[in-house]
Amino acid sequence: MIHDIIIVGGGPAGATCAKHVATNKEIDVVLLEKGNIDRYKPCGGGVMFRNEKDFGSLPAEVIDADVDTFTMGSFSKIATIEFSKAGIDYGKLVYRDRFDKYLLEEAQKEGATLRTNSEVISAKRAKDHVELELKDKSRLKTRCLVIATGANNTRLQRQLNIDRPVDIVNTVQAEFELPENVIKERFGGGSWELYFDTAHIAKHGYAWIFAKKSGLTVGYLDKMVSVDKFKEIIKGHPIIKEKLKDSKIKEIEGKKYWAHPIADRIVEYTFDDRILLIGEAAGFIDRFTYEGIWHARKSGQLAAETLLKAHKKQDYSIQILRGYENKWIKNLYDCEDRSIYFSRMDHHFYYHSGFLDEFVDAIITVLQEKQLIEDLLEQGRKEGREDILFIEALQLKIVDELQKKHDKKTFSRMFKEFRRRVLL
Ligand SMILES: Cc1cc2nc3c(=O)[nH]c(=O)nc-3n(C[C@H](O)[C@H](O)[C@H](O)COP(=O)(O)OP(=O)(O)OC[C@H]3O[C@@H](n4cnc5c(N)ncnc54)[C@H](O)[C@@H]3O)c2cc1C
Repeated sequence: MIHDIIIVGGGPAGATCAKHVATNKEIDVVLLEKGNIDRYKPCGGGVMFRNEKDFGSLPAEVIDADVDTFTMGSFSKIATIEFSKAGIDYGKLVYRDRFDKYLLEEAQKEGATLRTNSEVISAKRAKDHVELELKDKSRLKTRCLVIATGANNTRLQRQLNIDRPVDIVNTVQAEFELPENVIKERFGGGSWELYFDTAHIAKHGYAWIFAKKSGLTVGYLDKMVSVDKFKEIIKGHPIIKEKLKDSKIKEIEGKKYWAHPIADRIVEYTFDDRILLIGEAAGFIDRFTYEGIWHARKSGQLAAETLLKAHKKQDYSIQILRGYENKWIKNLYDCEDRSIYFSRMDHHFYYHSGFLDEFVDAIITVLQEKQLIEDLLEQGRKEGREDILFIEALQLKIVDELQKKHDKKTFSRMFKEFRRRVLL
């Protein structure tokens, strides 16, 4: 038997793709996941507002907390924006076991066949299908293979000689216990906190605390990371140390510290004959924040649209599947809201300009201006615009701040970088 479509990888990309393909009840779609339905995946669990805008509200049991506040910090100072108080829904905080389980169940409800504990260990092409071998030695055939295996496992891509994310950043993360009332008092509710500091945290990344109801998700990312460095950050950074005071690391599956890569660039080709790449297996990611859940879901949905067309024509050739590329260029790369193209600008601005600490310092100083932020929040709320950090008035204030603090020559170098990003 040859299945119409097999999707390998049951993260947000694979589950969303399966759900959308399964809307056509004639298509036989199988989703293979190597873990359990509720496996742990190291992730901050920040499901930002664009998710619910595109994919609808999450059920209450999947949400651990709202993103009530956003904090940006350096080594010695912080600024906090209170979204919930201003009536802005910035997003939700989840744990990936519950969130991914929900997405997988949604795919099943639509009619996709889910097989958990089904690791695919090899893939090879045949004339009119792709053949997969599973760890339990069983074999499956498919007319079209969708690879949704994330950034951690690129074996199938290597075997099939197709692109895989080669540029990556790395992370270390741990889950901390802290009583709900202490979290509420210390963080003001659900909180998304990012700390930048080239000397003590990372030159190409940041440390985060996601304060949820049931605990704190804490980690850091950089080109190269280590558990020792992570321990130094949580014990040595004056602000982070205080935020984690009296907390205890939880053990998950016998492990305290989890390392995981994140893709850092879109692959060259996301399609081939009878093959599509989605989610982080294709390198879709915000290259500043490294947010990828929305990108994974969106690419899964766009791939499904192409697959529905291919099925109708009974043609899974490269000529039809390349339609997927046009879709993601329009809806992920060049779209209006937080496009990957824009995040690429941020990436260079923060991580490659050589001024990360200076920029962060200026941004925090501006974010500390209470009245300005209240006005921006009000403007954002009225315009239905959550990303107030990108409103031009704020950006211009940051430029003023840089000009005030730095000599003419340094400022002119900074301004060049800033202009590339904001004033295009
Ligand atoms: C530490 C960390 C923090 C992050 N925080 C956030 C955040 O707060 N918000 C956000 O939006 N993004 C965040 N991201 C990014 C986000 O987790 C990913 O971009 C997103 O999960 C990608 O989804 P995906 O479906 O492409 O891949 P994944 O979520 O990685 O899912 C891939 C799935 O494929 C399965 N699999 C792999 N190989 C095989 C195989 N051979 N056979 C069968 N199954 C296989 C895996 O078990 C896994 O379930 C974070 C990432 C990391 C590492």
